[in-house]
Amino acid sequence: MFKSTEDFAKQLDQQDSLSHFKDEFYIKENQIYMDGNSLGLMSKRSEKRLLEVLDSWKNFGIDGWTNGDHPWFYLSENLGAKVAKLVGGKPEEVVVTGSTTTNLHQLVATFFKPEGKRTKILADELNFPSDIYALKSQLKLRGLDPDEHLIRVKSRDGRTINEEDIIDAMTDEVALVILPTVLYRSGQLIDIKRVTDAAHKRGIKIGWDGCHSVGAIPHDFHNQGVDFAYWCHYKYVNNGPGGVAGLFVHEKHFGTEPGLAGWFGSDKTKQFDMEHDFTPAQTAGAFQIGTPHVLSVAPLIGSLELFEEAGMDAIREKSLKATEYLMYLVKENLSDYEFTIGNPTDDAFRGGHVCLEHSEAASICKALKANGVVPDFRAPNVIRLAPVAFYVTYHDVYQMVMILKDIMENETYKHYKNERDVIA
Ligand SMILES: *Cc1c(COP(=O)(O)O)cnc(C)c1O
Repeated sequence: MFKSTEDFAKQLDQQDSLSHFKDEFYIKENQIYMDGNSLGLMSKRSEKRLLEVLDSWKNFGIDGWTNGDHPWFYLSENLGAKVAKLVGGKPEEVVVTGSTTTNLHQLVATFFKPEGKRTKILADELNFPSDIYALKSQLKLRGLDPDEHLIRVKSRDGRTINEEDIIDAMTDEVALVILPTVLYRSGQLIDIKRVTDAAHKRGIKIGWDGCHSVGAIPHDFHNQGVDFAYWCHYKYVNNGPGGVAGLFVHEKHFGTEPGLAGWFGSDKTKQFDMEHDFTPAQTAGAFQIGTPHVLSVAPLIGSLELFEEAGMDAIREKSLKATEYLMYLVKENLSDYEFTIGNPTDDAFRGGHVCLEHSEAASICKALKANGVVPDFRAPNVIRLAPVAFYVTYHDVYQMVMILKDIMENETYKHYKNERDVIA
């Protein structure tokens, strides 16, 4: 269905109903940005809303909490209700708060209740390190030895986690399962419904890390009965470096006492009573801790307007087509250079990025950067390339592959050391 010509790439762009969104973003001239899976680009809308929030500080001082276009006191909940559309939650099941890692700490502190024989947490051996560090420290805080109580499902191929293996590991010693929706390196999308159902059938709670899917893939957390989920907004949701994250708690758990309590988890009408007895909100808002980082929330106001206009289904459709096109171009043009496609190729199991493996991946990434393409490298041998629906065109994908072909043909990657930089 694809052709390997430049004209064909331009045709795909002409048919793309999302192509006009590229103008909403700041993109350096002559740069092809394929790293939105690590840090999404800044939109003009995000900049505008951030400036408005700064203005409300300038104009209102303390009264900015309740005045202005974006009253800070309600921002986390109001934006949570909008993010809920991205993740398939009810408005009160989602709140914008914390970071991925602090939200994981909060949710494990709340929902990990070791009892009798059930004292273990089940994760996978390919998850992002921060999640694993958090789980180990949560076990230690309960006096449980992580070597014994953290089970990590092994990968059969070093890239993906087999769903059967996850389900087989759900023994009657497991109290909680924590998994990524999409694996950060290979881009494998796990069947959330299937694995959630399997956990529940065995009396196990399950939480999902949505960092690599929220904003790229529509979710249905409420209907799937997911117990909780957490994710960042600075990758596919474009709210900027260190931008405030999100969490989902299913309404069946409303009223559960937060493991880590703080006054911003209060019922909002009671918060300023200043009582020493905590009255948590009866929503996901209960799992906030302290004062929201308002200036790092503000870009999300603008970013979510773009999501509202584009719609998650159209975003996923373009992302699937663009990743498929990228894989096609790699096969057509780079077959002489020993690249392996490490991501699942099936639409049902493919996330938002393509995982290209090569033994010289680190030097190839540096050569790409020197030639105006921004990829990222994940040790030991992965080049991640995300054709983000909002701002990467099909023509960008075409040009990127041609640049890569040139780098391989002329061996210019050999000018660079095959080692990662401090930030890869
Ligand atoms: C990006 C990412 C994180 C980052 O956590 P922060 O708390 O935002 O630094 C954690 N886990 C996964 C799976 C990620 O992809």
